[in-house]
Amino acid sequence: MTNAPKQPHHVVIVGAGFGGLETAFGLAGAPVKITLVDRRNHHLFQPLLYQVATASLATSEIAWPIRHLLRGRQEVTTLFATVGGIDAAGKRVLLDDGDTLAYDTLVLATGARHAYFGHDEWEPFAPGLKTLEDATTLRRRILVAFERAERETDPARRAALLTFVIIGAGPTGVELAGTIAELAQHTLPQDFRNIDTHKARVVLIEAGPRVLAGFADDLSAYAQKSLEGIGVEVMLGQAVTECSADGVTYGGKRLDARTIIWAAGVRASPAAEWLNAPADRAGRLQVERDLTVPGHPDIFAIGDTVAINDANGHPVPGIAPAAKQQGRYVAAAIKARLNSNSFGPFIYRHAGSLAQIGKRKAVIDFGKFKLRGTIAWWIWGIAHIYFLIGLRNRLSVALSWLWVHARDQRAARLITQGSSKVGK
Ligand SMILES: Cc1cc2nc3c(=O)[nH]c(=O)nc-3n(C[C@H](O)[C@H](O)[C@H](O)COP(=O)(O)OP(=O)(O)OC[C@H]3O[C@@H](n4cnc5c(N)ncnc54)[C@H](O)[C@@H]3O)c2cc1C
Repeated sequence: MTNAPKQPHHVVIVGAGFGGLETAFGLAGAPVKITLVDRRNHHLFQPLLYQVATASLATSEIAWPIRHLLRGRQEVTTLFATVGGIDAAGKRVLLDDGDTLAYDTLVLATGARHAYFGHDEWEPFAPGLKTLEDATTLRRRILVAFERAERETDPARRAALLTFVIIGAGPTGVELAGTIAELAQHTLPQDFRNIDTHKARVVLIEAGPRVLAGFADDLSAYAQKSLEGIGVEVMLGQAVTECSADGVTYGGKRLDARTIIWAAGVRASPAAEWLNAPADRAGRLQVERDLTVPGHPDIFAIGDTVAINDANGHPVPGIAPAAKQQGRYVAAAIKARLNSNSFGPFIYRHAGSLAQIGKRKAVIDFGKFKLRGTIAWWIWGIAHIYFLIGLRNRLSVALSWLWVHARDQRAARLITQGSSKVGK
C-alpha cells in the first residue's frame, strides 16, 4: 500500500485589496498552498481614486494586475472569479458561475461599497467612487458637463451644467470638492471660449456639523476654510432628501445640478450574509478578537468588511492601514497555528489620518501631533507615493503631480466610454 503525499494546507483568500494582498504577502515562506480570488484582475489603490475621477492621474497609475504582483510566488494561484457564497460545513467557497473551491483556511477580505441609506434609486444620479469604472464614469460626467455647458445657450441650463454637488464631507468628499474646484479655477479656464469655468459652483453637502468628522476640530475648521478659499460652498448640517437627474434637495432647498457625486456612506460586502454571521448596521461582520468568524475558527475576515473595536473600545476605522495590519496579523496567526503555537488577539495601532484639501494644502491628524498646510501636503504626497506599488508608478505619479502643481495641467482629461451623442 502506497501513502499518497500529504497535500499542503490550502489557504483561500477572497479579495486582493489591501487586506487580502497583505495576507498573501505575509504568508511567504509558509508551508501552504494559496488561492487568491478576486472579481477584478487588479489591486486598486483607492486613496487616489479621486485623482482619476478628476483627471489628475491615469487608471494604470493606481492599479496593478494581481497576477503580476504575485508572479514570483509559485505556491500562489490567482483566480479571476466572483464569490457568491460560502458552504462553511463543506469548507467550500461557492463561485457565482457554479464552481467551488475547497479550503482548509479561508480569509474573507471583500471590502465595502457605497451605500445610499435606503435610497438605492439615487445611485444612477449620484454615483459613488469605489472602482476604476466608477472613477472613469465620474471623470466622464465632470468633463462632459463642461463640454455641454460650452454649447448651452440657456443661462439656467448652463448654470446647472456648471454646478457640481458632492454629498458627504469625509476625506473623499473633501478631496473631490477641492480638486474639482481647482480644475474649474486653474486647469480649464483657457480651454473654453463660451463659458467662464471660474463661475462653476462646487457645493459640498454634509448632514453632520463639520467637514472631516474623523479629524480634530481645529483641522476640520482649517479644511472648511481652505475649501471655501478655493470657492467650494460648504453646506453643513443639511441632509439630502432627494437626488434626481436634474439636481438635489437638501435642507428643504432645491439645487439644480447635472453632476452629483455620492461620498456619504459605505456598506460592507455580503460576507456576513454568506455565513449568516452577526453584523452591524453597515453589514460589517462582527469578528472575534483573533479576527475569526464566530463559530468558524477556520474562517478569518478582515478589512472593511468587518467591525471590530480597538483596545480602547473605539471602532477600528475602515482605512487601508487597518486592513493591512489585519492581513499581516492573519498571516502570522495561520503560520502560528500550523506550528501549533498559540497566538494573541489582534491589536490595532492607529498611525494617523490624512486628507488633501487642494493644491499644496492637507491636514494630518496623528492624535497628539497635528499638521496642516503645505508641510502636511508634502507629507501626504510622499506617504502616498511611498505606499504605491512599484517604482514605475511612483515615478509616474510624482511626475503627474509635478505637472499639476507647476503648470496646472491635468493630463488625464480624456472623455472615454462613449461619444458626444446625447445619452451616450
Ligand atoms: C474613494 C476612496 C478613498 C479612500 N481613501 C483612503 C485614504 O486616503 N486612506 C486610507 O487609509 N483609506 C482610504 N480608503 C479606504 C481604503 O481604501 C479601504 O479601507 C481599504 O481598501 C480596505 O481594504 P480591504 O482589503 O478591506 O478592501 P478592498 O481594498 O476594497 O478590497 C476588496 C477586494 O475584494 C474584491 N471582492 C469584493 N467582493 C468580491 C467577491 N464577491 N468575489 C471576489 N472578489 C471580491 C474586490 O474586487 C477588491 O479587490 C478610501 C476608500 C475609497 C473608496
